[in-house]
Amino acid sequence: MILKSIAKVATESLKKPFTLEFPEHVENLADNYRGIHKLDMNTCINCQACARICPNQTIVMVEADSPTAFHADNKPKLFPEIDLERCLFCALCEEVCPTDCLVLTKSTELEAYDRRDLVKRPEQLE
Ligand code: SF4
Ligand code: SF4
Repeated sequence: MILKSIAKVATESLKKPFTLEFPEHVENLADNYRGIHKLDMNTCINCQACARICPNQTIVMVEADSPTAFHADNKPKLFPEIDLERCLFCALCEEVCPTDCLVLTKSTELEAYDRRDLVKRPEQLE
């Protein structure tokens, strides 16, 4: 019994590790994998449809840190800020966006030391 266990441990230790060395290596992603959002602030019409449809209230509309993000009457334009910690990656925001300026990418880089870093301002989504 003991010899069998030792043989098993020896066999397993010679096998290649199952884990991948992230971020150098990532798993092959499925075609329909949904990752972090990408926003084109130039074509966003600030309609708020993405924020309204989000089932988990993950999107809030915020002022952007950009000198061009103002309406003609000098009122600030509002763009989506996304809390990736709360996101379900359902893609409803992408579906509803009338200008296709908000899309889900295949980016898997969701690691963060501080959960507050997972709240992405509009500029960080570009
Ligand atoms: S993917 Fe779904 S949960 Fe995530 S921000 Fe878009 S609508 Fe909200
Ligand atoms: S990202 Fe799309 S749905 Fe959201 S405010 Fe901009 S245009 Fe509207």
